[in-house]
Amino acid sequence: MIGTGYGGSVAALRLAQAGVDVHMIEMGMAWDTPGSDGKIFCATTSPDHRSYWLRTRTKAPLNYFLGLPIDRDITRYTGILDAEEFGGITVYQGRGVGGGSLVNGGMAVTPRRENFGAVLPSVNADEMYDTYYPRANAGLGVTSIDQAWFDTTACYQYGRVGRKHAQRSGLPFVFVPNVYDWNHMKQEAAGTATRSALAGEILYGNNHGKKSLQKTYIALARATGNVTVSPLHRVTSVAPAAGGRYTVVIEQLNTSGDITATKTVTADRVFFAAGSVGTSKLLVKLKATGALPNLNGEIGRNWGDNGNVMCGRANHLWDPTGSLQSTIPCSGIDNWASGGAFAEVAPLPVGIETFASFYLSITKNPNRAQFSWNAATGRVDLNWQTSWKQPSIDMAKTIFDKINAKEGTIYRTDLFGVYKIWGDHLTYHPLGGAVLNSATDNYGRLTAYPGLYVIDGSLIPGNTSVNPFVTITALAERNIERIIATDL
Ligand code: FAD
Repeated sequence: MIGTGYGGSVAALRLAQAGVDVHMIEMGMAWDTPGSDGKIFCATTSPDHRSYWLRTRTKAPLNYFLGLPIDRDITRYTGILDAEEFGGITVYQGRGVGGGSLVNGGMAVTPRRENFGAVLPSVNADEMYDTYYPRANAGLGVTSIDQAWFDTTACYQYGRVGRKHAQRSGLPFVFVPNVYDWNHMKQEAAGTATRSALAGEILYGNNHGKKSLQKTYIALARATGNVTVSPLHRVTSVAPAAGGRYTVVIEQLNTSGDITATKTVTADRVFFAAGSVGTSKLLVKLKATGALPNLNGEIGRNWGDNGNVMCGRANHLWDPTGSLQSTIPCSGIDNWASGGAFAEVAPLPVGIETFASFYLSITKNPNRAQFSWNAATGRVDLNWQTSWKQPSIDMAKTIFDKINAKEGTIYRTDLFGVYKIWGDHLTYHPLGGAVLNSATDNYGRLTAYPGLYVIDGSLIPGNTSVNPFVTITALAERNIERIIATDL
């Protein structure tokens, strides 16, 4: 198993339950040991070496405040959040055992059924909604906020302002499920549990309360006794070996990112679960450099950013959003049907009153990019262009122009630069690059090479209409069930 995110964790658990010995290879750290401050993870407001993957300066997604840059120098370390830069976009990804579940907002959203056909056209929707989405939601520990508590707690004042503004403009406000333990959050607010969501922890990990994959699928997988996990190990090559097996080359890293050993193992089957970017980069490289030349021509294509775009709005002084904000979003504005945008009502947990409302929008951006091998640099490039975000901005404006007009408010221009409204330089939701029923068969098999599979976000062609990890998990549950039944 290459990678320990959603796809990799689901596949590891189900294979291990079927009696298969599974070796999970993860380039990031284990994240199971506290640092000198007694904490495993650092807070968003005070990033240290643990924050970023092999950087000497932080690269915060929201990189300005009041027009001033907020990034700071850090020691280069195998930190938890990778801000991977391509020509036209920075792709944020989790690094460590648990993948994106270590750093994400935990928003666990099942797409509306009427949108599913556009998300995964070759997949039977009845099976997904009757069996695999429920299985994924149960496995991830998804629950919803107690709405009576939402209505009264100080830490969701920003959510209530978001609701009021959406509803006053006639836009559909929705509560969104999450994997955070809501009882823990209530105790954080009551002062009876150590604060995590209420202490600004999120982007660089949550020390308490969040049910990351380490606590769900991976814990169950380890408990079978059939799973070994190797952190700080990065797969660089997979090639056919004798007897229908595969040779896998793995580099061991130290926490400075240096290669300390190179290992070669042989496997009966290899699952690419390195995430949309990780899997796409590996497959494109292995096809171009001759290790897996027969991979089909769709490898590396159909990559999208889930239409991510961010913005803030400046509220009136009578609409404070609160100095104590839970980092865990629990609501959104669903204008997908009429405007092509679904906006998370997101926190701005800086510890002071900002009078700002902040949003991450997921939009129906039709642009798709392609990964390609660059022989001159020995790297894989992605041809996404920043201007391709314009449709996302236009769709997000169907929500926020309307709210601003109704409320008599304006956009914040100090969060992404000086006089810059839109956070259009990034995505949290990379999807595609080895798309189901195109680069693979309809269950993720790389058919030119029996025993090689893709089982992560790279199977999904660029957009899920909502936050993606529940769909990645459900699709992995579907595919691995078929693979275990027919291929083992
Ligand atoms: P990943 O979870 O990315 O896992 C891939 C793993 O493979 C990583 O651990 C990586 O280090 C490892 N890897 C990569 N290459 C190699 C290699 N060569 N060798 C060994 N290991 C390798 N989604 C939601 O649904 N809701 C949210 O609220 C949400 N919030 C987010 C917030 C942030 C800041 C970010 C960054 C993402 C967020 N996401 C959210 C997105 C979500 O986390 C991802 O869609 C999801 O993690 C992708 O799952 P995956 O299994 O495809 O890959």
